Amino acid sequence: MVAVVFNCAKCEKPMIWGSDHDTEDADGVGYIVSNYHCNDCNSWIEHGQPVEEPNNG
Ligand SMILES: [Zn+2]
Repeated sequence: MVAVVFNCAKCEKPMIWGSDHDTEDADGVGYIVSNYHCNDCNSWIEHGQPVEEPNNG
């Protein structure tokens, strides 16, 4: 498992991972969206990452 740490854009503290959910864009590309929040200033972000799945057409 890879730990990904984002720093808060506002106060530059490490952000805390909250949860993941799956989504899909209009072209059917799947994404994992991860939520991160900052305990220091309550900022939060969503980080979307394409899911690379075998596509058998
Ligand atoms: Zn912050």
